[in-house]
Amino acid sequence: MPTNTTSAYSDFHLQFIAGEWQTGKDDSTNTNTNPYNGDTLVEIQQATKDQLNEAYDAATQAQEAWAKQTPAERSAVLYKVVNILDQRQEEIVDWLIKESGSTRIKAMVEFGATRAITLEAATFPNRVHGEIRPSNTPGKENFIYREPIGVVAVISPWNFPLHLTQRSIAPALALGNAVVLKPASDTPVTGGLLLAKVFEEAGLPKGLLNVVVGSGSEIGDAIVEHKAPSLVSFTGSTSVGKHIGELANGGEYIKQVALELGGNSPFVVLKDADIEQAVKAAAFGKFLHQGQICIAINRVIVEDEIYDDFVERFLAHVKTLNVGDPNKQDTAVGPIINEKQVKSLKEKIAKAQEEGAKMILSGEIEGQVVPPHIFTEVTREMDLSRNEVFGPLVGIIRAKDEDDALSIANDSMYGLSSAVFTADMQKGLRFARGIRAGMTHINDISVNDESNTPFGGEKNSGIGRFNGEWVLEEFTRTHWISMQNEPREYPF
Ligand code: NAD
Repeated sequence: MPTNTTSAYSDFHLQFIAGEWQTGKDDSTNTNTNPYNGDTLVEIQQATKDQLNEAYDAATQAQEAWAKQTPAERSAVLYKVVNILDQRQEEIVDWLIKESGSTRIKAMVEFGATRAITLEAATFPNRVHGEIRPSNTPGKENFIYREPIGVVAVISPWNFPLHLTQRSIAPALALGNAVVLKPASDTPVTGGLLLAKVFEEAGLPKGLLNVVVGSGSEIGDAIVEHKAPSLVSFTGSTSVGKHIGELANGGEYIKQVALELGGNSPFVVLKDADIEQAVKAAAFGKFLHQGQICIAINRVIVEDEIYDDFVERFLAHVKTLNVGDPNKQDTAVGPIINEKQVKSLKEKIAKAQEEGAKMILSGEIEGQVVPPHIFTEVTREMDLSRNEVFGPLVGIIRAKDEDDALSIANDSMYGLSSAVFTADMQKGLRFARGIRAGMTHINDISVNDESNTPFGGEKNSGIGRFNGEWVLEEFTRTHWISMQNEPREYPF
């Protein structure tokens, strides 16, 4: 394992604007706490709208020169970032555990995904390309250029803060853009300031990456409405995403938006499935990061014939999971990010019981640690099925047969990820193609993300795709340039 040979980063109480670490000028403070033990990690004086404007000015200025750098020069910075991530792996994993309540297992998964998308992005400067298209006009040639989009606004969530920030900023920068980033209030370090340190150490020119930590009321709308960004890359809840979409297109300036929003992933177990494997998958896909993942399993749907068997084995397996200190090597379920989320989970537990679901596993909620809760005899109408849980609670729905399972799986306003277990691959493929979602995994969990495959959703789960060629398109603009090589005849 790579070891950390450099001294740990410090000064996370500062903003990173125009390539300088500076104190926020707002009179509000972000108190960053450890969700497991409540320790204060850092107090950040928040940024003002003027500081946001300064960040946008710096980004606009720096972007032009950056776009003109050779592909090799831009790639080199990204490869350097990968090296630094490797050198500082322990430090980064430690921050993920203490700031976002990641278990050690989840922090390692997140570190791996972050590294992978950075490596993928390092290839983008040489992969981006245009086209020459035929013309029906005599003497004309059509060139399609792919150019940097300019300045990109990035707003990221707290659940996979390092990865979900990096999957926007690494491609954006690699493709010749500049970035102004607002990390989530619960994770300003892993969602932004830590990455700013890494890019700075890698030699990214000043002004290209700006991290502005501020309150929603001061800079929330302003970051979207500002003239500078041509694209707003937002990852977060559907309700805030809708607001961002309206702001980006309802104001003075029209902007492109990439919206990666909430999910309600079905995990379907058909009667011929390997039940033992499905049980292990369901536990990992549901309880990784305490269920606080947009692509976490939200609904377990099991065919009638094997329902009781599945429930019995799932209950037995989940009872063996270690719950508590995220820093311990074998902890499976750690703390919930904040008290507001804990309150929402308590309400969901009460509502599930009120609605008639049978709670077959529960436990004491201690601080922000919520142990796994399992509900059976859940129907598609119940709150547990209709809404994103974002916590370690799971409802198991009984399906009459395969058709019924598909109908339940599709009965959602979300369409992000999904999964189906079956021994028959043809059946699995047919079932998967029937699901209206951006992603479906056969004989695996809904939680999958690979840097070279398209990640994104349908319906209320968003617009756009991350990773590979798909993000390469998202973070560039298309410019058709035609060249008339001989005089054209005009009708008048
Ligand atoms: P959230 O929508 O509350 O916040 C996301 C980000 O938006 C944060 O940085 C927040 O500070 C910012 N924000 C909030 N109000 C804003 C405003 N008015 N203007 C500008 N920015 C504003 O989401 P969250 O609680 O951080 O994350 C959880 C949600 O994100 C879940 O619904 C989850 O499914 C979703 N999510 C989706 C994906 C995906 O790839 N589709 C990935 C992770 C999380």
